[in-house]
Amino acid sequence: MAVPQRRTSKTRKRKRRTHFKISVPGMVVCPNCGEMKLAHRVCKECGHYKGRVVIEEQEEIEAE
Ligand SMILES: [Zn+2]
Repeated sequence: MAVPQRRTSKTRKRKRRTHFKISVPGMVVCPNCGEMKLAHRVCKECGHYKGRVVIEEQEEIEAE
């Protein structure tokens, strides 16, 4: 089995890891209600997407 010839130095390891970053989720302002929402997704505040209502406003449904 192939084995590394030498141990990766702290510097080399840290330099490699400078490329792993967390990406910020794309947040945009909802054009309907002005709340922040995730881009390309239905607004969870008002249920609008692409200028129309996708999710009707729902009352809390009680589980029985
Ligand atoms: Zn909205």
